[in-house]
Parts: sequence; structure tokens; C-alpha cells
Amino acid sequence: MLLAVCAGVYYSFFAPAALPVRSEVSSVPTASPSALPASNEPAPDPKLLAECRFNYAQGLMYLEKKNYKEAKTYLSGVLPLDAEHYSDAQAKLADCNSTIIKDYLNQGQALIDKTFYLKASNLLDQALKEFPDNKELITLKNNAAHLAAALVKYEGPVYHVFFHSLIVYPELCFTGDGMEQGYNDWMTTVREFKLMLQEMYDRGYTLIDLRDMFSTDAAGKVVQNDIMLPKGKKPLIISVDDVSYYKYMEKDGFAEKLVLDDKGEVATLVKTPQGNEIVTRDGDVVPILDDFVKENPDFSYKGAKGILAITGYEGILGYRTIHNNPDWEKEQAKVQPVVDKLKATGWAFACHSFTHRRSYSERTITLGYLKYDMERWLKEVGSIVGPTNLYIAPFGASFPQEDERLKYIVSKGFHVYCGVGSRPYYHVYGNNVFMERIDLDGYKMVHSPEVMKELFNVEKVYDPARPPMLDKKKP
Ligand SMILES: [Zn+2]
Repeated sequence: MLLAVCAGVYYSFFAPAALPVRSEVSSVPTASPSALPASNEPAPDPKLLAECRFNYAQGLMYLEKKNYKEAKTYLSGVLPLDAEHYSDAQAKLADCNSTIIKDYLNQGQALIDKTFYLKASNLLDQALKEFPDNKELITLKNNAAHLAAALVKYEGPVYHVFFHSLIVYPELCFTGDGMEQGYNDWMTTVREFKLMLQEMYDRGYTLIDLRDMFSTDAAGKVVQNDIMLPKGKKPLIISVDDVSYYKYMEKDGFAEKLVLDDKGEVATLVKTPQGNEIVTRDGDVVPILDDFVKENPDFSYKGAKGILAITGYEGILGYRTIHNNPDWEKEQAKVQPVVDKLKATGWAFACHSFTHRRSYSERTITLGYLKYDMERWLKEVGSIVGPTNLYIAPFGASFPQEDERLKYIVSKGFHVYCGVGSRPYYHVYGNNVFMERIDLDGYKMVHSPEVMKELFNVEKVYDPARPPMLDKKKP
């Protein structure tokens, strides 16, 4: 009680009647209560005391919620005149500060691990405003600033590689039926994908976000942005086509859909050869790549993952969201959280046409049909995945610059147009970019292994579970 009385005099002299908490009170100089006269002082201002008690209770409430910043603000407003709570508030305040510092350090380190050096540096600058003398914060801040300054402009080739849904069970896929050849040509197995990732990582490749490579200026012209990477790193873009888990693939050893697992992460629903449905992180590119980046954060620059190039005619990601399905709204409600999680974890979406018509590959598709197809994609797929400027052409079909069909696609906001090829190549044409992608599948591994020699050793990754590649002619 002694403390309260003494300090009460001191504070009631300075503090306005209407209170406080925040900086004005916490900036009041701390009195040394023991130096003040010990007796015959008036009782503390009841209004002020009530405020202190209120602040203390609020502080505890925010501590309970683990909101340390708010707790800190309120606990700072518990003044020595509230003798009952003051020393406890001070102790809790110290705990808050060390938790907040720890949190800054963890966040800063996580950003550095994900190669967000500048972001980390800025965050730690902010932390140092609050805790200017903390040595650990100073060290980490210097580290982040050093790494940010060490980024170099990358000037070499940019590989964009792509996959289809991965073969999880080769024994269900390669059964000698009519589908076998197609799967053998155009698909990649889980085993191959994992080996490819490891070797590309070992060779210094790091994922970048294609959306960061180009921007458009006010006049609609595409501007190429510098690729800044840690020294020695080479950029890599990965895309995955379709990701629809089409009905024709059922029972052939692929995943059935993307789902959220019990930790809320994107996983795959897979049917085992024994017929059991399981949720696994090993069923397709998305969870495998997510896990690989988690283990090797420097495989992804600024948290980039891959691009999902999706069609719409059987819905998306294994959900039958096509509006012809009477249950499409229910399916859309189910897929939306998966889409949101993908976007929040570095994945991008591209338009891969709605119908994936054969006439794209033959380039006989009419402008009228293309418009119909695009409108349906925007309505039934774009409405779920959100806006994108990435177009990944079905069958890799490309059109000359002066072709009305290309002009139409670009006019719908798709400034980055990806085809299929055999080299790391892109070219900026005024208001659009054309980029080649290399398919890392059975066909390419058998017929053109040399195009992958910079990425990995084909002999090391090729899956022995594949049947012999009999037909060496492209179908
Ligand atoms: Zn496709």
C-alpha cells in the first residue's frame, strides 16, 4: 500500500483525469517511489486507480489470447499507484517483451529461409524501433541486409518445365491396355518427379514465380523485370497441366482430387491398389513439391511454387464444378478452400482453355469457338481461382502474333502465353510474351534426353516400372 500512496501523489499530479493506457501514460517518467515521502499522502486518484485495474484486466485478457502486443500496451498502463497489480504487471510485461522479441526473431529467420531477404530486413528494422538494444535482433537484421545486398541479377536461360498429374501406382497405370502408351509418353511417375526435384535442387535451381518475371506498363506493354537471385542460383519454373483428375484416369493409379489434410495442408486423395481411399502427401506434384520446399527452403525464391494450368470441362482439381453438373455449387464450395490454400502457399493458376478441344492442337479452332471457350473458362473456372495473366495453351498450340485468336486471348488479360518446346526460351512481343515449356515426361526422356541434361541425368531418374517405349513416333 505504501507504494501506491506515494506514487499516487506523483502520478495524479501528471496524469489527466481521463485516461490513458497507451503511450502518454507509459511515457510518464518512472518515479522512484521509495524516494518519496512515506506517509500522510492522499489516497490515489480513484479514477486513475480504476483505469489501472482496467488496464491490468485487459492485459490479462490479451495474454490469455496470446496477443502479446495488445497485452503489452495495456500492462504498460498499470501504474505504480496500483500497488496490488503493479509488480505483477511489470513481470508480465517483461514476459511479453521477450515473447515479442522471440516472435520477431522467428519471423525474420523464416523470411530469410524463404529468401525474402528484403522483407526480413524491413521487419527487423521495425522490431529494432521497439527494441533498439536487442543484440539478437541486431545480428539477424545485419544478416538479412547482407543477404539482400548479395542478390545478383541472373542473366542466363530460364527453364520452364511441366508435368501432368503424376503416376502414383505404375502397376495400375501400365496394364497393357489402350491407355498405356499415352500414359507412358505424356506422364511422369512420382518416383521420377522426386528424383528430378532432388537433382535440380542439387544443381542450384530455385523456383521463381513467373508472375514476377513480367509486368505490364500503363500502355499495356510487357516489361521484363530483373531476376534477382542469390549468387550461384538458377531460376526454374514448374507448371502442371490439367490437374482435373479426369474420369478417364480413374482406376489408372492417379490421385482422385486435391484435398486439405487434417493439418489444413493441400494433399491428395488416392485410391490404393487394394481399393482403399487414403489422404496422402505423395499423390501428386502439389504436396510433394510443398514438402520438398519445406525441407529445402532455398529451392524456392520468395516462396514461389508452381503454376496449375487448369481446364474446366470436367471441373477443377477433381471437383465437378462444371455448371452442367446439378451439384456444381456444392462442388465449388468444397474446392474453394483448397484453391485459397494453394494461392496462400505460393501456387499460381493459369488458363489452359475450358474444353481442351483437339482443334487447338490442329489450330483449326475458330475465333468464335475460342471466345465461347474463354468465356466459359472465365465464368466457371476464373470465378473460383481469381484473375490471372498466365495462359498455358492446350496441346502447347501457338499462333502467330498477327493471328486474331492470339490477339483475342491477349485482349482478355493474358499477357504471358506459354507453348511447348524443347528449350529454355521466351520472347517479349510488345503486349505479350511467348514462353516455351519443356515436358519432363516419358516421351521426352526417351526421345530427347539431351534437352534435360542441364537439369538432371535422365538415366538416373527414369522409372524402371515403365514398359518399354515401343512407339518412337509421336502420336
Ligand atoms: Zn493439357
